[in-house]
Amino acid sequence: MKSVKDYIRTIVDFPHEGILFRDVTTLFSDPRGFRMAVDQMLHPYAGMQIDKVVGLEARGFILGGAIAHQLTLGFVPIRKKGKLPGATLSESYTLEYGEAVMEIHDDAIQPGEKILLVDDLLATGGTAEAGIKLIERMGGEIVGCSFIVDLPELGGRKKLEELGMGVDVLCE
Ligand code: 5GP
Repeated sequence: MKSVKDYIRTIVDFPHEGILFRDVTTLFSDPRGFRMAVDQMLHPYAGMQIDKVVGLEARGFILGGAIAHQLTLGFVPIRKKGKLPGATLSESYTLEYGEAVMEIHDDAIQPGEKILLVDDLLATGGTAEAGIKLIERMGGEIVGCSFIVDLPELGGRKKLEELGMGVDVLCE
């Protein structure tokens, strides 16, 4: 039987020379693969209280939307700067070259709400860390951070665990 990893293809030299990009569109486009990924991401959280699912732009929207629907929960997007229409909170983070900014609507999470943070892939952890800071600034309590792929050599999982986060990944 195929595993989640078998549905993910690697594209060489994207978006830059020397990068091996894990392309999850081949997982999302397969009905068995997509369901398997969503079911496996949900598994560690069975029976836990979760109030909202937060997804990181952009593939975290696809997964987070499916997970929120499955749990009958609301979904909140964290987007790149300038995309959200309402008043926002912002967090900047470091990229390979330069800085980027993530934003969340300033009324999207209420203090004390239990949040599941979702994205497709964990590399350096910078994007997820920005998301964690935004959620925590709003008083949200993160019950876990769920990803399909972890690239352990880039240290993201260690970084999030040092922040006290529970991290779940399906494959490396
Ligand atoms: P980080 O901030 O952990 O270094 O990078 C993770 C973010 O970049 C995630 O939002 C993820 O979607 C994106 N990303 C970085 N590298 C890859 C990759 O190889 N494949 C995919 N699908 N996303 C990536």
